Amino acid sequence: MSTEKNILVLNCGSSSLKFAVINSTTGETKITGLAERLGSNEATITVKFNGNKQVTALVNNNQHLGAIEYLVSELHANDLSESLTAVGHRVVHGGEVFTSSVVINDDVITAIEKTSGLAPLHNPANLVGIKAAQATFPALPQVAVFDTAFHQTMPQKAFMYAVDNDLYKEKGIRRYGFHGTSHYFVSREAAKHLQQDAEQTSLITVHLGNGCSICAIENGESVDTSMGLTPAEGLVMGTRSGDVDPGLIIYLMNQHNYSAKQIDDLLNKQSGLLGLSKLSNDCRTLEDAVFGDDVEKHQQAKLALDVFCYRVAKYIASYTVALSHLNAIVFTGGIGENSNYIRTQIINQLSILKIALDEKQNEAARFGSAGAIQASDSQFKVLVIPTNEEWVIAQDAAQLSESK
Ligand code: ADP
Repeated sequence: MSTEKNILVLNCGSSSLKFAVINSTTGETKITGLAERLGSNEATITVKFNGNKQVTALVNNNQHLGAIEYLVSELHANDLSESLTAVGHRVVHGGEVFTSSVVINDDVITAIEKTSGLAPLHNPANLVGIKAAQATFPALPQVAVFDTAFHQTMPQKAFMYAVDNDLYKEKGIRRYGFHGTSHYFVSREAAKHLQQDAEQTSLITVHLGNGCSICAIENGESVDTSMGLTPAEGLVMGTRSGDVDPGLIIYLMNQHNYSAKQIDDLLNKQSGLLGLSKLSNDCRTLEDAVFGDDVEKHQQAKLALDVFCYRVAKYIASYTVALSHLNAIVFTGGIGENSNYIRTQIINQLSILKIALDEKQNEAARFGSAGAIQASDSQFKVLVIPTNEEWVIAQDAAQLSESK
């Protein structure tokens, strides 16, 4: 029998389920996987274990429960189920109710259900995962970790929209922010790197992945972040526009007969890097086109990446307003961790703040390498820190289930 204490981390989308078993102390990942197209005849589950990757069709039960049942059989087969001490669930929206992670009970489930209106695509899927895991692992404590919780320290001046105040009071319409576990994780890692207390460390953390957001962190607490009521606000993303004039929506509805569904698709699925470039939502593809021989593709990709980088630089400069001091700017997420090109394009636009990069260190900090990349005469430090949201979920689940 195993003496290790591992946490099963689940991240349920409407038709997907990502999972990992993680040692909460070391962060070591024992097994990972992804079930996709759940609910359809093409449902598959991919499991990675010991360097092997295996894809299996979910034929008989293609729902979330079926994926969890398959996952359980894999855990048994690989001697991992005995070592599980808790299940940690990523939950997208915690509204104003959840300011930190919680052990799940009936009241918590009711509160997550009540918040579902704010995240109609995500929270119901998260609840499906919670209920399936409760049915499968009745003896294990289940813990919910919210994407929004870290940002609940934002002051009102940062989280209010300047619209009729009744919308906030009566309908909870305000800025919530997302990617909280990532901003939290990299801020703690940055403080370690800087050899100072997280509670005395002020940062601008820049998460650039498929979704992108930026966070101003004053003495360890989120004081502003770029995503809002939904994850559509703020930076340019893979397929999301980020900030647009709200008048654009009214214009499209009134002058071009767009429906709510068409606007939703436009701003969330057909915009961002994909919409601007007409080539791809993937930063690697666009960088290849920028450096490639095809002049038209070069121009399309360059435009998309220019808009992307300019928006990030503008946000970084504006977030200096939210902070009393700034110890470092931190890049993370698939793009932030890997693209020295994007980091250069962003930081080059911040020369008025006397921030500059050391190009050699910038080039070296890729593919999992962390570290400082600023030039010796840069006024502010610039760090690259790989994020690890699953580890945060595992740590919270371990801590809360032990103290229960
Ligand atoms: P998610 O938000 O889905 O977790 P990731 O954080 O994995 O996404 O980020 C995905 C993005 O990272 C994609 O745009 C991808 O092109 C980009 N990316 C990954 N590796 C590189 C790289 N070496 N250079 C540039 N961009 C990269």
